[in-house]
Amino acid sequence: MSDQAKNRLTIALSKGRIFEETMPLLNAAGIEALDDPETSRKLILDTNHDDVKLVIIRATDVPTYVQYGAADLGVTGKDVLMEHGGEGLYELLDLNIARCKLMTAGFADKPLPAGKIKVATKFVNCTRRYFAEQGRQIEIIKLYGSMELAPIVGLADIIVDVVQTGSTLKANGLVPLAHMADISSRMIVNKASLKMKNEKLKQLLEQVSSAVDSRK
Ligand code: AMP
Repeated sequence: MSDQAKNRLTIALSKGRIFEETMPLLNAAGIEALDDPETSRKLILDTNHDDVKLVIIRATDVPTYVQYGAADLGVTGKDVLMEHGGEGLYELLDLNIARCKLMTAGFADKPLPAGKIKVATKFVNCTRRYFAEQGRQIEIIKLYGSMELAPIVGLADIIVDVVQTGSTLKANGLVPLAHMADISSRMIVNKASLKMKNEKLKQLLEQVSSAVDSRK
């Protein structure tokens, strides 16, 4: 790989909270975005470095871009990484942002059925793994959002979702039940990029890492 190629970096981010909370950390490593994804329709954003680009994609697609090397680095939630499985990438750094919990939730006063529990979620793999460890039989109802509605309309007994303040659950008459995992955003890297672009990545990671530490 030429020196020029070794210096080229593509970083995958999603817009919204992850972009807003990650950019100050990248700024600490000297990287500034020249466009705002909230106002620009561009999917590839230039930075103040010609050889560093940001690709703006859905959080759930970030591990896939990094796995296949379409992006060298990415930032996404631990929930997304647990669902993806982590093939082809390393989780390098806990950025300590977008913190929440993956939980089961349901009605406070309704006992779970003795047999198969119906669980509505978009976190299919995490849910399957968790209940297998508990030795509980479940039927998964795959949804893409508004999981809180499922127990109310009788589609499921409980849900698995990320919970931050718990106010969305409360507003829908549900309570958090079991804590499954602590979630926060992680910086991930393509395995081959870490080898080939080690020097450039090491420097960036040290700077981002000390910016994370100084926030604590
Ligand atoms: P809350 O009412 O504060 O518990 O927030 C719950 C809703 O916000 C959930 O239904 C999630 O869809 C969303 N949410 C909260 N925290 C996060 C996070 N860190 N990442 C993604 N979604 C989140």
